[in-house]
Amino acid sequence: MDLYEHMGKDLFRAQGIATPEGRVCFTPEEAAEATAAFGGRSVVKVQVQAGGRGKGGGVVLVDAPERAADEAARLLRDGFAGHVVDRVLVEEQLPIAREFYTSIVLDRSAGDYLALMTAEGGIDIETLARERPEAIRRVHVDPMLGMRPYHVRTLVGTLPADARDEATAVVLNLFDLLRERDATLVEVNPLVQLEDGRVLALDAKVTIDDNALVRQPDLAALQDQFPIDPVEKRAKDAGLQYVKLDGEVGIIGNGAGLVMSTLDVVAQAGARAANFLDVGGGASADTMATSLEVILSDPAVRCVVVNIFGGITRCDVVAKGVLEALGRIEASVPIVLRLDGTNAEEGRRIIADAAHPRIVSVATMDAAAAEAARLAGVAA
Ligand code: GDP
Ligand code: MN
Repeated sequence: MDLYEHMGKDLFRAQGIATPEGRVCFTPEEAAEATAAFGGRSVVKVQVQAGGRGKGGGVVLVDAPERAADEAARLLRDGFAGHVVDRVLVEEQLPIAREFYTSIVLDRSAGDYLALMTAEGGIDIETLARERPEAIRRVHVDPMLGMRPYHVRTLVGTLPADARDEATAVVLNLFDLLRERDATLVEVNPLVQLEDGRVLALDAKVTIDDNALVRQPDLAALQDQFPIDPVEKRAKDAGLQYVKLDGEVGIIGNGAGLVMSTLDVVAQAGARAANFLDVGGGASADTMATSLEVILSDPAVRCVVVNIFGGITRCDVVAKGVLEALGRIEASVPIVLRLDGTNAEEGRRIIADAAHPRIVSVATMDAAAAEAARLAGVAA
């Protein structure tokens, strides 16, 4: 679970990490009031579960309460980069002398934590890592030993001398926060030094391990504040296992194993899954119809693969469900249907008889994947 910046900053302050003063505002009027309270100048920052706000107009320095209201109104109305926006963070403007970067992530492949620090913050860290990796200090931290003084000295050693003491406290507090709150990522970009020498977290990115939410009830409660994806909600309400991905092929299967293998063969054929949905065992015609509706409502889907291996689920029922769905909604993309197992022949006959222009019936999984890649225009 990715926290909003203002939530991350609440955790920072609770851990003793200094941040600018700020107020969460849900209306333009609140943004204007907050700006007035900060002396008539502020930074209006959109709150979304994504980064890159500075470049995209989501972080705006304003010099009057009315200007803050205008920016807040724009963000609340238009959203940001496809995200629904219900709040902005309005912060005091501070005189920044230098921008650094620091982060700690759970490094699954190494089985430890990876902490990073660079004096060249405020920019895109991936670009810096690619172009000048030597500018970034990296230390692996054994979870059994914790963050030791030599780790921290290595990290802060890349900063100007007068920033190191405060940066040391920030790193130690970040590590404690990560451990105590079950975070898999804490990132501060930029960590700034003000003209008076103080070091503050100007931004906060915190990701909490979803599997640990049971023991972080106050963090779990924050979930209600995030906008719900309408497609995911639809699937959840229908009791379907739906996962959004970022490719172009929609995938429906029965049973987790079959769905996973379908993802693999589609990838092998050169396409990528846009999402997938497991209809489970014994799917009814209605379940099938709802599943197709859910998958097709994702605008990224250019073609759908329905891969059913009939066991308890009967292929004739699935075939009727697919046709029922296509009677309820208009499919704007082709549907590749592979039916095998219980009543497969009957299912295929129902599909053949219907001769629906959008349905492509295939006999095997590999054929389904190849056909999907071709139809999505991405064949390997
Ligand atoms: P991100 O682009 O989503 O990571 O948003 P950030 O919170 O990191 O803000 C982007 C940039 O806005 C920062 O790198 C700063 O350069 C700038 N910025 C944010 N707050 C202030 C501020 O109080 N004063 C000044 N001068 N710049 C700020
Ligand atoms: Mn940032």
